[in-house]
Amino acid sequence: MTKEIIDETLSIAREIENHLKFFREIGLEDIGGSALAAKVASTAHSTELRPAEPGLMELLEEAVAVREQSQTRAPEVATPPTSQTQAGLFAEASTTQRPVPSRRGGAALPIIELRDPSLDAIREDIGDCRRCKLHEQRRTIVFGEGNPKARLMFVGEGPGADEDASGRPFVGRAGQLLDKIIVAIGMKREDVYIANIVKCRPPQNRAPERDEVETCEPFLWRQIALIHPEVIVALGSPAFQCLLRTKDSITRARGEWRELDGIKVMPTFHPAFLLRSPDKKREVWEDMKKVRDYLNTASS
Ligand code: URA
Repeated sequence: MTKEIIDETLSIAREIENHLKFFREIGLEDIGGSALAAKVASTAHSTELRPAEPGLMELLEEAVAVREQSQTRAPEVATPPTSQTQAGLFAEASTTQRPVPSRRGGAALPIIELRDPSLDAIREDIGDCRRCKLHEQRRTIVFGEGNPKARLMFVGEGPGADEDASGRPFVGRAGQLLDKIIVAIGMKREDVYIANIVKCRPPQNRAPERDEVETCEPFLWRQIALIHPEVIVALGSPAFQCLLRTKDSITRARGEWRELDGIKVMPTFHPAFLLRSPDKKREVWEDMKKVRDYLNTASS
């Protein structure tokens, strides 16, 4: 075995070890199932990637499994909204910001005039926003980022200090945990779209206030309408309550599918809450397995 192969093998093993650490933290013990592990093991043996260090074999097996998964779950292009859907959502010019009742049950997206249907246009409309008091202390507007054709979208509460400094959503400690959650369901951060209810950091990371949410949410509605993901994961109570127009508690609601104008919504705990209450990770993992399974079923 050449030095390059050994180095690459060890670096994959280290990466996998980190993933496994996370899986263990969230209480997941059987990754991929024993049948897959056996298949992977035979692949590793036959390609002579048998490592010298004890315990590494298991990590290599996981490495091959993760590679297989990422190959079979290559980013799928979401079906763009049909013209009928677009018409339904955008037919009428309106400044309505509250969701209208849905004919399909569940909440509905507000009717929004979409003169230029692009994320860039939404960002342009936000401009150097001073529409609410959050602008006074923010450094950067955190618009959101990711795959504009994402099948899966995460909606959080509002930027924290790291996001305010960088202009990117979920890049601090909570964001790093979110990244792990995304990897745990076999996806990559670039596959999904990540946004927040409010685009400017609330001082001292307090929850956004009603007037701030009402001022900012039309931009989120437009992002959702444009991306039109199959699933939205609502991270934490403010995101859940805003998206679904409800006062239900996240503790009671988490793990149960909701609907927003034909988009499945999974409420779950916010990663920042998981950092304070790691024992809740298992519940989030249960919720995320439902999301993973739904997306896998919907695409097959
Ligand atoms: N928490 C959020 O709700 N959003 C972020 O972007 C970061 C932390």
